Amino acid sequence: MQVGLRIDVDTFRGTKYGVPNLCRVFADHSIKATFFFCVGPDNMGRHLWRLLRPAFLWKMLRTKAASLYGWDILLRGTLWPGPIIEERLADIIRSTADAGHEVGLHAWDHHAWQAHIDTMTAETIYQSLNRGVEMLTQVLGRPPTCSAVPGWKCNDLVLKEKAKFPFHYNSDCRGESIFRPVVEGRELTQPQIPVTLPTYDEMIRQDGVTEDNYNDRLLALCAADRLNVLTIHAEVEGIACKEMFARFLEKAVSSRVCLMPLGTLLQEGKPTSCAAVIRKEIRGREGWVANQGPGAIEKQGY
Ligand SMILES: [Zn+2]
Repeated sequence: MQVGLRIDVDTFRGTKYGVPNLCRVFADHSIKATFFFCVGPDNMGRHLWRLLRPAFLWKMLRTKAASLYGWDILLRGTLWPGPIIEERLADIIRSTADAGHEVGLHAWDHHAWQAHIDTMTAETIYQSLNRGVEMLTQVLGRPPTCSAVPGWKCNDLVLKEKAKFPFHYNSDCRGESIFRPVVEGRELTQPQIPVTLPTYDEMIRQDGVTEDNYNDRLLALCAADRLNVLTIHAEVEGIACKEMFARFLEKAVSSRVCLMPLGTLLQEGKPTSCAAVIRKEIRGREGWVANQGPGAIEKQGY
C-alpha cells in the first residue's frame, strides 16, 4: 500500500527542531517524503488574537495547542516582528533536500496567507508566491518543483497565479484523486495532489480517538485501492508528538505501507480526471478548506 507523506513546516521552531527530528527518523526507515517550507516571517503568534473567537478557543483547548506548539510559537509576531525563517535556517532547508526529500513551497508568510486570502488580489497572491519561490530558489540553487498553500486556503485566483510558476504539481486541497483543476471552464496543466487523510488536530479527541489508539485509527483509514495522502506538521509530529509518530512509522513499515514523496505518486498515476476546486467545511477544522469538486470528469489518454 502506498501513502504519500507531506510535512507542512509552519514556523521557525518547526523548521529548527521539528525538521531535523523528522529527517532523523525518516533516515532510520529509509523513508523519503515531501517537505513544504515557509521561508518568510514567522508571525504565527498572531493567531493568539483569534482566541477572541469561541470556536477557535475550543479548538485550542481540545488540541492542547500550547503544549502542541509551545508558547513561543503562539506569541511569535504579536509583541515583536516575527523572524525571517530563511535568513536563519537556510541550512536546515538545504540539508533536507540534500537528504533526498522533495522540497516545495508552503508560504512566504503563513499567517498572512491564512488571514487575508479572501481579500488578496491576483497581484498580491503572485507577489507572495514569488517571494517564497525566489527565496527557496536561492536556498536550493534551483526552483522548488511543488507547492502547497497554508491551511488549504486555495481559490481560483490562486490556481491561476500558481500556473505562472514552474511547479510540477500543487497540493492545495482535500479530495480523493489526483486531478487537473478547472478554472472558468479551462483545464489547468498543473495537477493537484489532494490530501485524503485527516491531520492530527482534526482527529484527536474526536470519536474516541486518543494518543493510545491514534496510530491504529489513522492506519485503518488508509486503503490499498485508493489514493492515500497524509499531512503531518513539523511542529506536531516532529516535536510534541514525535515518539507517537516514530511508533506510527514502525507500524506502517511493518504493515508493508510504503511512505513516499507526493511527486512519486504523480509519476505512478497521471491524473485521469478534472474538477473544480470548491470550498468545504470539515470536521475538526475551523473555517473553510479547498476541496476537489464533485463530478470529476473522467478523461482518457493522459
Ligand atoms: Zn501550514
